Amino acid sequence: MSAWDYDIIIVGAGPAGLTAGLYAGRARLKTLLLEKLIHGGQVMTTDLVENYPGFPEGISGFELSDRMRQQAERFGLEFRSGEVLSLEPGNDHQLLRLEGEELKAGATIIASGVRHRSLGVPGEEALTGKGVSYCATCDGALYRGETIAVVGGGDTALTDTLFLCRFAEKVHLIHRRDAFRGEKILQEQVKALEKVQIHWDTVVDEVQGQHAVEALALRNVKTGETTRLPVAGVFIFVGITPNTVWLKGRVELDEWGFISTDAEMATSIPGIFAAGDVRSKLLRQISTAVGDGAIAAYAAEHYLAQRHSR
Ligand code: NAP
Repeated sequence: MSAWDYDIIIVGAGPAGLTAGLYAGRARLKTLLLEKLIHGGQVMTTDLVENYPGFPEGISGFELSDRMRQQAERFGLEFRSGEVLSLEPGNDHQLLRLEGEELKAGATIIASGVRHRSLGVPGEEALTGKGVSYCATCDGALYRGETIAVVGGGDTALTDTLFLCRFAEKVHLIHRRDAFRGEKILQEQVKALEKVQIHWDTVVDEVQGQHAVEALALRNVKTGETTRLPVAGVFIFVGITPNTVWLKGRVELDEWGFISTDAEMATSIPGIFAAGDVRSKLLRQISTAVGDGAIAAYAAEHYLAQRHSR
């Protein structure tokens, strides 16, 4: 009998975790996938995924994630919801502490993903859920016929600006520099929309409103000019932070808190692997998360086989 509850425990059910689960299941390893709330990760809130190969017309993030889950389940992956509070490496296994429970894993794959960053300006926190949003697919339809703002210049800001144009009458896109960071094709699509007004070199100093968002206090960082922009809502897409606080002091993280791995997804601790957005890497996409997940499961399988053959 093995000294652990599961051969592999995967933490996080985004594309990286689900792919790792699929591969581990097909390797006939007893595998559990733990997710904090629901499966899917960030992709669940993506309206249309256009750059994942095999879906020429695009596919909704929800559907893609659901299909990945079904596929992994077919090969025996077990799912359970629960938040991992800490991870303790040992000689023989890793100990994962959950609320009121402890689980032992022969190998662990961390695919805990990322969460959105906030601006940290006055009014933002108080008006979150009252006009301040971080999720276009969740809240976009509330702004039918309204004037809204989007903050950011990366792929998320551009993709979600396109989505929000379906509902809003006018979208003010506010970016702190004079060039976008997001994909060129998305830039072209956004710039072609009459509804979108781009405010270059502009930052939000305050989100204003009594009980709901009424306006943004804007400042042009080049001229210093300040303006008040009346809006019914503001969507903030200014980047991501890795979900790694629970791992501090356990595995090596880079200066931004992402997990450092080698090309085989191995972390600084033997038996612990990482995959997907939570990993220190060049490109955070569904396609790269899926690759990470497959490699992590394969590497974990080999790690376990080597230990058994000793
Ligand atoms: P991101 O690429 O890090 O972009 C964040 C944007 O917010 C940047 O334009 C940044 O400005 C701006 N920003 C950061 N802090 C700010 C602040 N305090 N005030 C104002 N603006 C601020 O983040 P993301 O767009 O969320 O994307 C995250 C990852 O997911 C990326 O790797 C992205 O490629 C991926 N993703 C891909 C897709 C897709 O392929 N369709 C969709 C969504 C996300 P600067 O440009 O000046 O730094």
